[in-house]
Amino acid sequence: MRPLAYARVSTVEEAVETVTAAPGSAFLAGGTTEVDLIRLGIARPGLLVDINDLPLTGVEDLPGGGLLIGALARMSDVARAPEVAGRYPGVSRALLLGASQQLRNMASMGGNLCQRVRCAYFRDGLSPCNKREPGTGCSALDGLNRGHAILGTSEHCIATHPSDVAVALAAFDAVVRTSGPGGARRIPIDDFYLLPGDTPERENPLAHGELITAIELPPAGIARRSIYLKFRDRESYEFALVSVCAALSVRDGIVAEARLALGGVGTKPWRARHAEARLTGAPATAESYAAAAAAELAGAAVRRHNAFKVELARRAIVRGLTLAARGGAR
Ligand SMILES: Cc1cc2nc3c(=O)[nH]c(=O)nc-3n(C[C@H](O)[C@H](O)[C@H](O)COP(=O)(O)OP(=O)(O)OC[C@H]3O[C@@H](n4cnc5c(N)ncnc54)[C@H](O)[C@@H]3O)c2cc1C
Ligand code: SF4
Repeated sequence: MRPLAYARVSTVEEAVETVTAAPGSAFLAGGTTEVDLIRLGIARPGLLVDINDLPLTGVEDLPGGGLLIGALARMSDVARAPEVAGRYPGVSRALLLGASQQLRNMASMGGNLCQRVRCAYFRDGLSPCNKREPGTGCSALDGLNRGHAILGTSEHCIATHPSDVAVALAAFDAVVRTSGPGGARRIPIDDFYLLPGDTPERENPLAHGELITAIELPPAGIARRSIYLKFRDRESYEFALVSVCAALSVRDGIVAEARLALGGVGTKPWRARHAEARLTGAPATAESYAAAAAAELAGAAVRRHNAFKVELARRAIVRGLTLAARGGAR
């Protein structure tokens, strides 16, 4: 048995100070990831710092039209908030298609962004895994890799990032607000997630003790007509094989603006910038959508069991863009 201390804090400053001062400590929000990992022996904090009393649960308008979502707002509350469902339907839908109702009621937005990968080798606690134990190797490269990534991989790790909502947040240039030992930071979501490279154990740039306080969404713009599609082995309570968040603005049959991000295929929530560049100025047709998908997937690196994701992603992108062009019907 390993000893595990527990502390409950009531201010952001106290939370940051308490975790910063204890090297083996971790924040505890809804606990739906952290407690699982402790039970599995993957996470071994000596101290859990419960942050649920912090006043970070709001969803409020920002001056200029954006939205500020508190880090401790629950997934289900955010999905149902009229400001989110009305102005960023892709974000709302991504939340509703994640996990289960019970989990969404517990799970916080900050915890969602920090959830760990679902790679079975990472979670079994025994297999060589560079993410869990740097330098031991990656069992998924030549093992069972059906659910693994095809974009952003390295020879050290090919695990997909599992968050649904982070995909939608990536599509709309969300910014992660933090408070840490070095002060406050605003981190664009694309910079918040790190590619595995040769340091797969580092998934985000948070310092020890650095707390996510909120997520900023810029003014909605075309996000108002956004969609989120999720393709998986079963209809609910399952992680994505491929997911798509898309929004299109079409004028006189030509794409004026496109947003596209992918889940289930990248080692980080994948903003499809090659596809967006290809779409802008192109006719809003199935041919253009297929060309955009091909441009994004040209860099795909497949392994033994996950090659099917290239075709699945291609079809998902075309379908997502087709629905987005119709105004977001699902
Ligand atoms: C069975 C199951 C199915 C799931 N399916 C899906 C799915 O389909 N789609 C999906 O997107 N997710 C899914 N999830 C993941 C779920 O969304 C996350 O577990 C949840 O969002 C984590 O939030 P939490 O508040 O419980 O975090 P916790 O478990 O409390 O914390 C998670 C991690 O984040 C850190 N942390 C928490 N809050 C902060 C903060 N404010 N600042 C800095 N660090 C922080 C913790 O220290 C910990 O390391 C599933 C989970 C389970 C168990
Ligand atoms: S894919 Fe990543 S998480 Fe999975 S075994 Fe390899 S290094 Fe570990």
